[in-house]
Order: sequence, then C-alpha cells, then structure tokens
Amino acid sequence: MAILVTGSAGRIGSRVVDLLLAAGHAVTGFDLRGSGRREAGYREIVGAFDDREAAREAVKDARQILHLGAFMSWLACDADKLFRANVDGTRVLLEEAAKVRAGRIVFASSGEVYPENVPDYLPVDEDHPLKPRSAYGLSKQVGEEIVRFTERSAGIPATILRFSHTQDASELLDETSFFSGPRFFLHPKIRQQEGFGNAMAVAALKAIDDGVPALVLSRNESGRPFRMHITDTRDMVEGILLALESEKAAGRTYNLGATAPVDFAQALPAMARATGLPLKTVDLPGSGVFYETSNARIRAELGFAPQWTIERMIAEAAAARAARAKAA
Ligand code: NAD
Repeated sequence: MAILVTGSAGRIGSRVVDLLLAAGHAVTGFDLRGSGRREAGYREIVGAFDDREAAREAVKDARQILHLGAFMSWLACDADKLFRANVDGTRVLLEEAAKVRAGRIVFASSGEVYPENVPDYLPVDEDHPLKPRSAYGLSKQVGEEIVRFTERSAGIPATILRFSHTQDASELLDETSFFSGPRFFLHPKIRQQEGFGNAMAVAALKAIDDGVPALVLSRNESGRPFRMHITDTRDMVEGILLALESEKAAGRTYNLGATAPVDFAQALPAMARATGLPLKTVDLPGSGVFYETSNARIRAELGFAPQWTIERMIAEAAAARAARAKAA
C-alpha cells in the first residue's frame, strides 16, 4: 500500500514526496507533469485529476491520499480549466478513492475560501464564514464540500488544511517567479495588472516607473502597506505531515501557515538592502491586502511549529539570487 500524493510535481507536493520516500513509505505521485523521479518505492501517474482512468490507476494501492494538486489562476479566461481541475478533478479522484476504501484524505484548501483579502474580522480563524470572491477560492470551497461528502458517504476520515500563501524562499527575490515577480517587482507587477485589465493600478505603477528594474512596496489607496502571510514551503510540508500522521486531525479543518503576517513596509526595505535594487512605493486603488490568519488551532492540536520567518527567507532568497546571477 502507498501514500498517494497529488500535485507531486509541484512546489509543495514534490517536497512532501521527498520526505515520505526518505521515511521509507511507498508513494504514488499523480500530476499532469512528470517529475522525472526514478527512486525505488515511487510510482507515478501522469494525467489529469478529472481523467477517470488516470484517477483509478492512481488510487489503486492508496492507503492515504494527500490531495495537494490544483490549478491556480486568477484569470477569467482560465475559469473552465480551473473548475475542471479543482472541482471535477477532486470529485472524480475521491469517487475512485471511495471505491478502493482509502483510509485517509488530507486536502489542500486555501485561505481564499474566507477570503482573507476581504475578512469580516481579524485574525481570520477557522470559524470565519466562507465567502470566496475569486473563482479559485470558490473551486476550493466546493473541493472542501466534496471532501466532507466523501468523508460522510464513504467513511473516509478527512482533514482540510486551508493553506496560507506559500513560496520557496528561493522564489522570493526572483522576478520571474509566478508569485514573487508581480508581488514585489515593479515591471512584472505592471505586466500582471495589465493582464487583469486594472487600468488605474497600471497608471499608478507606470507613474513611478523610470525604466530601471525596481522593487515595489504596495500600499492601499490610503497609504496602508500590504500585510499578508507568506509561508515557507518547508513549514507547510511539516504541517501536512502532522495532519497525515495524527489521529486527532481526522474530521478537522485547520488554517496552515506562518504564525506572523509579513508587513510589506518592513520586508520590502529588507529586500532592497539584500538585492541593491531601488525601492519604489505605490498607492494602489482599493482597500489593498491586509490580513492576519490564526494558526492557533493547528499549533495547539497538532503541535505545528513553523520555523521560517520572513527574515530567514529573505536571507536565503538573497543567496539564491546571487547564485543565479553568478551562473548566468
Ligand atoms: P504548484 O502549482 O506548484 O503545484 C500544483 C501541481 O498540480 C502542479 O504540479 C500541476 O501540474 C498539478 N496540476 C494542476 N492541475 C492539474 C490537473 N488537472 N491534473 C493533475 N495535476 C494538476 O502549487 P503548490 O504551491 O505546490 O500548491 C499546492 C496546493 O496548495 C494546491 O492545491 C494549491 O491550490 C494550494 N495552495 C497553494 C498556495 C500557494 O501560495 N502556493 C496557497 C493556498 C493554497
């Protein structure tokens, strides 16, 4: 019997597979992309979650299922693909899991189910109403319902983890990164906002652009700097494995992420010092990003103890950036 890890070629899933294999578990990976792994004890299914044949093959020896794979996009043109992957994919996978009577499900949900960017109150805890504003958040909310339905109807105990924003530290200071480029770097942010069609944000960003590559400190329209959780992948993996291994986690829902949110007014100057890049400040239209999410439940119940502060992540990111520059 094996542990099935979906999203096994992804940022978080691939690290989970590393640790499970190192601990001597048999692992099945399931992802659209091949991982290139050849280790003993590893079997891989390359396919889509909503492809029933592939899902059947993936669950066939699954004792436990870590459903960590999903499609992440906030572009309107990706909505069909998003719901196929995250909703139909989760349904088909868990229907097949029910047939083989898998023993356990751990599901990667997201803080976008609340959503954290427009909270009713802070800090956001697990009792906060679920009122997603993005198609991605909605796809995760429906995914949670499918997980709980499978738990009730097939008797498979399940744990839902509502993930914080998560990155490898090495991505933080990489302007080509899907997440960090638009979040911290001026030119990728302009391109992202152009893609979203946010004309006012594009105008505000272009007004501070002198053509030189720069970091950007984002604030809202009243000048309040952005604040959000950014959790290192290694801490997330620790939380996922705690949820997998703990009997107490069965039937439970947890926020999983760093304890303290990142204040951009402190992090961006530190990033500028670490890179030598100029730092620009922009006030973007709207209320901006400003939240804090409580991880108190998973710390108290499962002993989750995240290790990676933003300061440690920035130090590692700077070293990774220097290594990339040397190799180029
Ligand atoms: P990732 O994009 O690195 O990995 C996701 C993997 O899922 C990819 O390898 C991709 O190929 C695979 N995948 C996508 N659609 C698929 C499909 N239809 N069939 C098969 N495989 C498919 O993402 P990650 O950062 O490792 O995130 C892992 C999980 O955590 C996802 O469920 C994501 O929604 C959730 N999450 C991530 C963050 C974050 O900030 N990284 C935040 C909240 C929740």
